[in-house]
Amino acid sequence: MYELNDVPGKGKGLVAAERIVKGTRLLSEAPVFRVSRDNSNIKILKAIVETELQRLTVGQKAAFFDLTNIYGDAHSNSLGIARTNALPLEGSNKASSGLFLEASRINHSCRHNAQNTWNENIGELTIHALRDIDAGQEITISYLAGTSDFVERQLRLKETFKFTCKCELCSLPLAKRQLSDDRLTKIQGIDNLIGSFLWNGGKPVVALNILRIMFDLFEEEGIWDGRIARAYKDAFEIAMGQNDSPRAQVFATRAGGQPYNNKVEVLRQPAFCTTARGVG
Ligand SMILES: [Zn+2]
Repeated sequence: MYELNDVPGKGKGLVAAERIVKGTRLLSEAPVFRVSRDNSNIKILKAIVETELQRLTVGQKAAFFDLTNIYGDAHSNSLGIARTNALPLEGSNKASSGLFLEASRINHSCRHNAQNTWNENIGELTIHALRDIDAGQEITISYLAGTSDFVERQLRLKETFKFTCKCELCSLPLAKRQLSDDRLTKIQGIDNLIGSFLWNGGKPVVALNILRIMFDLFEEEGIWDGRIARAYKDAFEIAMGQNDSPRAQVFATRAGGQPYNNKVEVLRQPAFCTTARGVG
């Protein structure tokens, strides 16, 4: 479905070799090793990485040392590569991240077309297409937690990952970028507000109207990531609270889950991690 190719301005990346339909599982990969996300003791982290590397095959080691290191001379090369490329493992151990030789090749886009999700049940990281991807298009995930406005995205990417993002979203003409920033700020505002609104006795019908505004903003902005599932999960719970089963069923389906015991299970997406990629 994809191949490792040169991508202008980014080095190497995964590029679709054929048309990939939305929802397709592109990759399911076990980590070659796990590493704590706690970087408070660099010496221990370095020792863990060195020990784990000894266990890898010659081929795996070669693939590991072919990965990017954004830390330059600040660390040993192996620690720099591990810190640059580790992806978060959600589930039983949220403080843990994993080193993936294939998934680590996927570059960032603020308007990413794929989503990384740690699947605790199978012990593998899965990558799914969030939208249809044409042959020749690069497959991208987001390294950030959520999508903030242009200035904040650029700051965070520069600070944490040492690059200036020139993705589709960051390259929009100024007027369009400002409209995008406006939508993203509103989405973030609703996301922050909705929980406390209900907690403080806000009317469910008003909450559903607010969520409808949010769904429209997602669509206008072209966002198809896990935030939509989470918002539908909120809508499901509100409808259930109103004994509105037909609507609850619709929301549950759109959330991508099946209602069970008046709850709908939706995997929390890595996009909400404090840091979506990297150690520390
Ligand atoms: Zn960007």
